[in-house]
Formats: sequence, C-alpha cells, structure tokens
Amino acid sequence: MKVAVCPGSFDPITSGHLDVIERGAYLFEKVVVGVFEKTEKNPLFSLDERIGFIESAIKENSKLSNVEVESFNSLLIDFAHRHKACAIIKGLRAVSDFEHEFQMAQFNRKLDKSIETIFVMASPKYAYLSSSAVKEIAKFGGCIEGLVTKEVEKGFRKVFKL
Ligand code: ADP
Repeated sequence: MKVAVCPGSFDPITSGHLDVIERGAYLFEKVVVGVFEKTEKNPLFSLDERIGFIESAIKENSKLSNVEVESFNSLLIDFAHRHKACAIIKGLRAVSDFEHEFQMAQFNRKLDKSIETIFVMASPKYAYLSSSAVKEIAKFGGCIEGLVTKEVEKGFRKVFKL
C-alpha cells in the first residue's frame, strides 16, 4: 500500500492544510497526518484539541476516508517508518516557505533516501493562509469563516471568549 505522511503542528488545522491533505489522499492509498506533540512555538490549542479538529474534519469529508491522524514526538523519518510510508507530503505557499522546506527535505533525504518529500503547491485561494494569521484574526474577533472548519471556529470562540 502506498502510504504518505503529512506532518505539521496544525495549531489549528486550516483550509489550506486540508486542501493539501485532500490532494495527498487522492494521490496515495493512505495518508497519515502527523501532529507534532511538542512544537517550538507555544501552541494555542492542546494536542488533544489539535487532533480532535483534524478528526472531525476527516469525518465530514468523504474525500478524506483514507486519512488517519496521529501525534508523534520523534524524527519525522521514524514516524514515516512506523507507518511504512514512502513519501512525506508538504504544502508550499510562497518563496518564503521554500528555504526551510528545502533544508528539511535534504535532511530527511540524508536520513533515508527511500522516503521522498513531495510538495503540493498551495491553492491560490489559500496561498496567504497560515495558522498564525488565522489566530491573529480570531484573537481580535475578525471573520475567519471559510479559513477553518466550524469546529475550529468554535474552538476559537472558547479560547478567546468571543
Ligand atoms: P503553519 O505553517 O501554518 O504553522 P504547520 O507548521 O502546521 O502550519 O505546517 C504544516 C505544513 O502545511 C507545511 O508544509 C506548510 O507549508 C503547509 N501549509 C500550511 N498552510 C498551508 C496553506 N495555506 N497552503 C498550503 N500548505 C500549507
């Protein structure tokens, strides 16, 4: 079975992430979304909340029926090995993403060259979208409809007491 892993902090998952995951699910027989347990950034949402948002998005979209979610706290390559994945799927937004992603892909290739990093170009409508931008808008009560799922909108209302 052709399996890909799709890693990120998903704090929280956005429509941009979901677009990348859906496109990965079309290309691979299975996609395992890997949620970093510990992120360098101080996450707004707990690990359980970040996973819960992804699980409910998967349930609501029939195109994600071959997608699973799991947290990890190890090298990405080891997470990929655990799932017998042959690829890592990442989204690329702007040139600013490129340098970091290029470095990560080189490192991962050095660790195991049988696991290929595949980049999906961000859809134009989500090319500007990031979890941090959504958090910033939500914090000040701006409209985030369409940028995240309804569950994530609810989550923001709870944390920011909107
Ligand atoms: P962020 O960069 O929003 O904090 P993550 O660290 O969770 O999110 O990113 C995980 C992956 O998702 C990265 O490869 C990132 O480039 C990709 N990604 C994030 N937002 C988008 C988007 N709007 N369109 C395409 N890819 C995206």
